Amino acid sequence: MSDCLVVGGGVIGMMTARSLALSGAKVTLLDQQQCAQESSWAGGGIISPLYPWKYDNLTNELSIASQVVYEQLCAQLFEDTGIDPQFLKSGLLMMDEYDLPEAKIWMKSHGLDYQAHQSGALFANIGQVRNPRLLKALKADIIKKGVKIFEQAKVDELLIKDGAVIGVKTLHRNYLSDYVVVCSGAWSSQWLTLKEKVFPIKGQMILLKSKPGVVKHIVLDKGRYIIPRKDGRIVVGSTMQNVGFDRAIDDETCQSLHDFALNRYETLSQAKIEHHWSGFRPASTSAKVILGKHSEFDNVFINTGHFRNGINMAPESAKRITQLITHEA
Ligand SMILES: Cc1cc2nc3c(=O)[nH]c(=O)nc-3n(C[C@H](O)[C@H](O)[C@H](O)COP(=O)(O)OP(=O)(O)OC[C@H]3O[C@@H](n4cnc5c(N)ncnc54)[C@H](O)[C@@H]3O)c2cc1C
Repeated sequence: MSDCLVVGGGVIGMMTARSLALSGAKVTLLDQQQCAQESSWAGGGIISPLYPWKYDNLTNELSIASQVVYEQLCAQLFEDTGIDPQFLKSGLLMMDEYDLPEAKIWMKSHGLDYQAHQSGALFANIGQVRNPRLLKALKADIIKKGVKIFEQAKVDELLIKDGAVIGVKTLHRNYLSDYVVVCSGAWSSQWLTLKEKVFPIKGQMILLKSKPGVVKHIVLDKGRYIIPRKDGRIVVGSTMQNVGFDRAIDDETCQSLHDFALNRYETLSQAKIEHHWSGFRPASTSAKVILGKHSEFDNVFINTGHFRNGINMAPESAKRITQLITHEA
């Protein structure tokens, strides 16, 4: 297989690099800062769309296919790198919307059912990963698989010779490659003209220090969620703010996320807020994933726009873009 250059070292870029390397490609990955610092680090790690019936078919297809492989993938990464992504089938307790007509139709057509629970509907098969750990494991794994990573390498534009793309340009040097794969998350439209624009939607999250067992399942209510980690820590999220690349976090949001958790689990009033952060989800104008060939260049591929579901869609998105590139090659 030929050389592939992946631009972006989030979950999408690193899963894509892994999949390409496994298919026999010589892969180089560039990130403008360090890998694994942006949306993929900031996210919650729920391995399912929040209310799947609100999403298009492609999102659900990518998500369902990824759900099938996630546990095994995490076990493989743990075995190969010694870093445990902490996949946990904690189940998801949905407190609202599960009994809407569209939800019932969707569940019926997808053969999905829930267990009745005193607070709502329990989807027992939904899992989660500790995404910062997943990213650490992925990075270690792709390095082992021969992927060359260059950090602090901000791609400014495609490198074009006689009308054909032959690589990319950064401030300090050019990188030559047969194929370029754009996995630059919310920044994708910042350096490359795409038919459909990608832009950031900020989400703020907080982390509470609690004990294992206080919250058993992921809890979803009114679009916000509580995610219990294995060690008892609890992630609470999130906001949806269309404010550009403004990373600011604010006390009011912190308080409202904390209240959201306390209103559902009084015992969390003892839990200390350990951390409060924000991240930029890569949204697209059509609200759909952008997965395929660039409209102008045959050897440039796009894997971005995963919005709220990049962690759960990553394995299948990476597989499909790899299939497209290997078919082309
Ligand atoms: C608060 C929050 C909660 C979330 N919860 C979940 C969840 O529970 N489940 C789920 O599935 N998804 C969740 N998401 C969404 C998920 O995190 C994203 O869809 C996913 O991380 C996108 O991955 P990515 O690799 O495309 O982007 P990123 O992780 O942002 O990675 C993009 C990378 O590209 C690099 N880059 C950008 N431009 C350039 C350039 N010009 N040159 C070189 N490198 C460049 C950046 O530095 C960055 O490292 C959440 C997101 C947020 C913010």
